[in-house]
Amino acid sequence: MSDDCLFCKIAAGDIPADIVHQDDHVVAFEDINPQAPHHLVIIPRQHIATINDLGPGHEALVGKLAAAARAIAVDRGFDQSGYRLVMNCNSAAGQTVFHIHMHLLGGRNLTWPPG
Ligand code: AMP
Ligand code: ZN
Repeated sequence: MSDDCLFCKIAAGDIPADIVHQDDHVVAFEDINPQAPHHLVIIPRQHIATINDLGPGHEALVGKLAAAARAIAVDRGFDQSGYRLVMNCNSAAGQTVFHIHMHLLGGRNLTWPPG
């Protein structure tokens, strides 16, 4: 845990969030500024600042983020219509919280290319 990290605090229960899934490794919660009818943020409990900080021991953890996203999409019934998973890395991509996270966006038609 990083002392001044918002998402570490959410994972620890120190800052409230609308948590929709949690287990030993992963926490998923509603994005506070949703960009789609379904917009979840999925994080590892482990503090990793950016995708650039991933190491060889982290592959399974990143897989767990995708597995949680899939399970939420199935549970909410938009897995077949479609959804988008996004991980922003550093400033040019718009990363604002430096604890890696996967955005799950669904419930509307999403355009491509993204902004
Ligand atoms: P990013 O810009 O990729 O770093 O994404 C950070 C996301 O976290 C944004 O979509 C924010 O709306 C979201 N966010 C920031 N603070 C909170 C919070 N307290 N609870 C839930 N989502 C948050
Ligand atoms: Zn953190």
